[in-house]
Amino acid sequence: MNPFSLLKPINYFCPKSTIVLVAENKIYQPEYLLQQAKKNHDSTKKYLLKLKNKNPRNLDGLFHQLHSQVFKKTNCLHCANCCKSLGPRITSKDRERISKALRMKESDFIDTYLKLDEDHDYVFKTMPCPFLASDNYCLVYENRPKACREYPHTDAPKMIKHLTLALKNSETCPAVFLILEELKLMLPLGKK
Ligand code: SF4
Ligand code: SF4
Repeated sequence: MNPFSLLKPINYFCPKSTIVLVAENKIYQPEYLLQQAKKNHDSTKKYLLKLKNKNPRNLDGLFHQLHSQVFKKTNCLHCANCCKSLGPRITSKDRERISKALRMKESDFIDTYLKLDEDHDYVFKTMPCPFLASDNYCLVYENRPKACREYPHTDAPKMIKHLTLALKNSETCPAVFLILEELKLMLPLGKK
């Protein structure tokens, strides 16, 4: 898929540089995305702090609109950066559901795929995720962990509580990076 049209519905606001990033698919390259996110980190952090203080009434609406527009044109199969680099928390319901789908005993599923992290949460033993296929499809998609379903949280209610997380996720998820860049343009909060 050519994601050049990614921001077509909103390219009125879109800086040329962002269109170029998308058009060249560079934004899907993890190193390139990280470099861009780090370059914008301080200004985005400042912006999000102002946003938090201002707490505009339509913030959820704006985020959700951008989430939907950006994800409509984002090719996650071209990316899979979250599945390659972030370890989702695997809840007890996740363990029960996935092991059942794999027709494994839950204890065998845990022994084979999971470990406890420093917070005593279950996470995958290895990353990239053991259920990420070579074509970037998820082998347990219908039963994937809740954390995977909800990532990158830009359509969550009460987005005001998730701004720090969005800043962090902009280093991993090209869609979040674009959502934040668009938000800055749609809702400018001044230079001071
Ligand atoms: S379970 Fe599926 S969606 Fe979740 S990290 Fe693994 S491959 Fe990605
Ligand atoms: S959710 Fe974000 S990081 Fe994950 S595959 Fe889609 S674009 Fe990439």
